[in-house]
Amino acid sequence: MPFLRSLIRGPYVLFPLYPLFLLGSDTVTQTLIVVIVLQIALMTWGIFSPRSRLLVDVISHGPRVASGGSKPMLALTFDDGPHPTFTGEILDILARHDAKATFFVVGVNAERYPDVMKRIQAEGHTLGNHTMTHPYFLSMTFLYSRRKVRRECAQASATIARISGAKIRFFRPPANFKNHIIGEAALHTDHAVVVSSVISGDTRRGRNAEAIAARVLNRIRPGDIVGLHDGIEPGRWSDPDRRRTVEATKIIIAGAIRRGFALVTLDELLREPEAAMAPTPCLQRL
Ligand SMILES: [Zn+2]
Repeated sequence: MPFLRSLIRGPYVLFPLYPLFLLGSDTVTQTLIVVIVLQIALMTWGIFSPRSRLLVDVISHGPRVASGGSKPMLALTFDDGPHPTFTGEILDILARHDAKATFFVVGVNAERYPDVMKRIQAEGHTLGNHTMTHPYFLSMTFLYSRRKVRRECAQASATIARISGAKIRFFRPPANFKNHIIGEAALHTDHAVVVSSVISGDTRRGRNAEAIAARVLNRIRPGDIVGLHDGIEPGRWSDPDRRRTVEATKIIIAGAIRRGFALVTLDELLREPEAAMAPTPCLQRL
């Protein structure tokens, strides 16, 4: 895999070769075009397909088979919070069903709403790192230095730990987009990269709570990690209403419990790494 990864990162390495086009030789030109198109296709898949492990060792689900008579597990995850209203409402729903979840919070939001952070921790949920300021993929890849990307990762966990007292093990890149720069930052700051295996689409315009819940309930299998959004990333011009997510969460939790799932945190879902996916450097670090 490391060899394949360095091949795919090729466009960076191969830039100096591009002037060979000027030679005008048909064979050289055609070969270069094939190589470049292939690399771009593989990189695109590695970056944008949430579960792709081509560029980064990501964890996208837990054990598919429940161990020794226990219930199949499902992990709900909420990104972009905490939020003073919506996170509290989701915590109320979880408490009513004695269900647990994981909150991938943004560092600056954590600083703004420390009481919500303390409540998440006190009620037995897991806190994860969703960067300090929620920069987008293009910024982290082309505008930021590698040190700055690492700082995004390290600073967020330090902030979350200071406010909540939790030890942060899991990192989720914004929008689940990842490449070698983001993967290295997570590894160097001692985080496992966790993406979702079921994308709820709760940020899509025109999708109501029933449609979001139906999409999730139609897709879930034991061990799945469901991606939802309770908060609003900093610097957004318009405030999206997360009420749809709150309402969808009610339906999802009731439906999943009816189908025999135990709703657990990522700490619990990934407690037995050998029972999860094939071991990866990330998982071995847990
Ligand atoms: Zn996000």
